[in-house]
Amino acid sequence: MKSLLLAIAGLALAGCAGMGMDPGMGRSAGAVKITPLGSHDGEFCPLDRALVFEDPDGTRILYDPGRTVRGPSDPRLGRIDAVLLSHVHGDHLGDLIQPAANAGACPKPDFSVNVTPNSNFVNIAMGKQVPMIVGGEMHSFFQAKVKSLGGDPGKLVRLLRFGAQTMVGKVMVASVPALHANGLPPAFLPREQAQALAATGLTAYVGDPGGFVLRFSNGLTAYLSGDTGITAEQDLVVRGHYKANLVVMNIGGFPFTTGPVEAAYVVNQLVRPNSVIPSHANEPATIGGKLTPNSRTAAFQKAARMPVHVPLSGRTMEFDGSGRCVSGC
Ligand SMILES: [Zn+2]
Repeated sequence: MKSLLLAIAGLALAGCAGMGMDPGMGRSAGAVKITPLGSHDGEFCPLDRALVFEDPDGTRILYDPGRTVRGPSDPRLGRIDAVLLSHVHGDHLGDLIQPAANAGACPKPDFSVNVTPNSNFVNIAMGKQVPMIVGGEMHSFFQAKVKSLGGDPGKLVRLLRFGAQTMVGKVMVASVPALHANGLPPAFLPREQAQALAATGLTAYVGDPGGFVLRFSNGLTAYLSGDTGITAEQDLVVRGHYKANLVVMNIGGFPFTTGPVEAAYVVNQLVRPNSVIPSHANEPATIGGKLTPNSRTAAFQKAARMPVHVPLSGRTMEFDGSGRCVSGC
């Protein structure tokens, strides 16, 4: 009898130890941490794009550093395992950065440090010695850039075009389309080429812009829209194939991308995730961490039928495998 009780206790313990895994889905437990790295602590400011995603396995991925990550030594970065770039426009690739934390004001951040022609994205990948993951024809541009700076292009540049996926730690990274533009601003080119292009009003061709789907080890599947309009793939691919349950959605609107109305259509009718993080507001959306009532971010939050979690810089939000925020929202 005693041995039977011990056996039952042993089974119960084994059950507890196994709680980290959902055997049906092969997913580990634990939350994914998402931390916005914006221009002003505790606010959602006009040029905020950068997010750090941390898998329960510790893998940390930086998305679109733009202007608000203060180079590779920004203390908010910590360890980084890969850097994703949706497209090469200056507010994503990073032409300028702040001289110090919180420089300027949220409505008008101080981006007085010029980091062209290298870019903030390349400087961070070089500083951290981690791969840049890019689509289109951006890889050959970044390979040449890395080589010119003395880095190893094979190690630091990873091409990922639409339809393909790659792994970073336990995180699956897939490329999905974005309908936007992707001309390389002349400022990222050597001076003579830059001057010739700037004089004609042309940009350099580097292929298609994109978005990403990240599937984390707890099952969380996040769609990062990049800069885009409404696309059929948001329905057929992002929901249909990847079944994204969290969306990071561009709400910037006129004249560049989906605004609050179009972005609400994307999340309500096409992707239908369990929650949304608005991005790329192009407005000072908060004051003292509170949404400004007549902001486009507030309009989007009202129009979306699922929880919309405002990305306040430096505040870490945690999401379970179903895309629901469990902490920090
Ligand atoms: Zn943009």
